[in-house]
Amino acid sequence: MYDYFIIGQGLAGSLLAWKLIHAGKRILVLDNAHQHASSWVAAGLINPVTGMRMVKSPYTELWLQQANSCYQQIEDELEISIRHHLPMWRIFTNQKQLDAWQERISAPEYADYLEEATIDNNALPYHIKHGTGIIHHTGYIDTKQLLTAIKQWLVEHNSYLQVELDYDQVMVGDKLITLHDMQANNIIFCEGYRGTHNPWFKQLPLTPVKGEILTLQHEQPLPNAIINFGKWLLPINAKQFKFGATYDWANIDQVPTAKAKQHLLDALHKQLNCELDIQLLQHEAGLRPNSQDRLPLIGPHKQYPNMYCFNGFGSRGSLMIPFYAQHLLLHLLEHQPLDPHCHIDRFS
Ligand SMILES: Cc1cc2nc3c(=O)[nH]c(=O)nc-3n(C[C@H](O)[C@H](O)[C@H](O)COP(=O)(O)OP(=O)(O)OC[C@H]3O[C@@H](n4cnc5c(N)ncnc54)[C@H](O)[C@@H]3O)c2cc1C
Repeated sequence: MYDYFIIGQGLAGSLLAWKLIHAGKRILVLDNAHQHASSWVAAGLINPVTGMRMVKSPYTELWLQQANSCYQQIEDELEISIRHHLPMWRIFTNQKQLDAWQERISAPEYADYLEEATIDNNALPYHIKHGTGIIHHTGYIDTKQLLTAIKQWLVEHNSYLQVELDYDQVMVGDKLITLHDMQANNIIFCEGYRGTHNPWFKQLPLTPVKGEILTLQHEQPLPNAIINFGKWLLPINAKQFKFGATYDWANIDQVPTAKAKQHLLDALHKQLNCELDIQLLQHEAGLRPNSQDRLPLIGPHKQYPNMYCFNGFGSRGSLMIPFYAQHLLLHLLEHQPLDPHCHIDRFS
C-alpha cells in the first residue's frame, strides 16, 4: 500500500518523489526507463532572463530560491555534483535586442540579474555587432546524472518500478487507486509531453514542441561561459559543448533529423568569427511539454480528487520544477491552496 503512485521519472516525477519521501510518504514511481523523457535530452540550462525581449517572470526569485536549495540538498545527500554555475553572455543580434537590454538594465528589479559587459568583444571567437551583456544566476543542471542518481535512490527505497503504464489498468476508486495488485491513496501524473494521451487530463492545453540538440568536441579553447545569441552554446568541459536548440511544432516525434543538425551547425558557424575544428559527438531530440501560457499545469482532477496532474514545464523545467514540487507538496500535505497562476482550473 502506497500513499502516492507517481507516473514518470523525469525531472518533475523525480523531484516530487524526492520531496514526498523526505516528508515520510510511501511512494511508487513508475517509469518506462526514460523512453520519452525530455529531461534526459535537456541541456538543463537555468536562465532567469529569457527571450528576445529579455524578461524575467514575477516568480523568478521564488523559482531560483527553491532550485538552489533543492539541488543543493540532492548534491549533499547523494554526493553528486549536478548544478554548475556559469555566467551567460548575451550577444545581441540586432538593435532591438540592444534597446530591450538597455531598458531592462536600468530597471531596479533587474539589478541583480544583468550587468554591462566589460568583455573585450574583439577577443571573443564570435561575431558581435550590437554588443553583449552578462546575465547572472545562470548555469545548468546535469539532468542525466540527476535522473540516474535519483532512480538509484528510489530503487534503494523500494520506490521504483520500471514499466510502461497502461491507462486501462488504472482503477480509480473514491479512496483508492488500484494498479495491477498494488494500491495507493493518490496518483500523480508527471508524464511530460505524453500527458497529451492521458484520458483524465487530455483537455489541458499541453503542446509538445520538438527540440534537437548537439554535443560537439572542439580543439581550440572557448570561454567558460554560456553564450546566448538566440541559440546557446553551453561548455560542459574543456573540450566539449552542447549547442541548441531547435523548436519544431509540426513534427511530434523524438527522431533526430539531418535538417535540424544542419540548421544548428549553420547557425553556429555563422556566429563564429574563426574556424573551429569541431566534431559531432551526439545528436539528440526530445519533446518539451509546453503549456499555452508557459506556466505549469498542476492540480486535481475535477471528479477524482486523489488524481493529480504535475506537468507543463515547457522549456524551463530545471528552473521551475523545484519550486512547484514544493508548492504541490505543501498543498498535498498541509492543504495549502494551489496558486491560481499554475492551477489547471485556469483552463476550465
Ligand atoms: C532539446 C531540448 C532541450 C531542452 N533544454 C532545456 C534547458 O536547457 N533547460 C530547461 O530547463 N529545460 C530544457 N528542456 C525542457 C525540459 O526537458 C523540461 O522542462 C523538463 O525536463 C520536463 O520534465 P518532466 O518530468 O515534466 O517531463 P519528462 O522529462 O518528459 O518526463 C516524463 C517521464 O515520464 C515517462 N513516461 C511518460 N509516459 C509514461 C508511461 N505511460 N509509462 C511510463 N513512463 C512514462 C517518460 O519516459 C519520462 O521518463 C529541453 C527540452 C528539450 C527537448
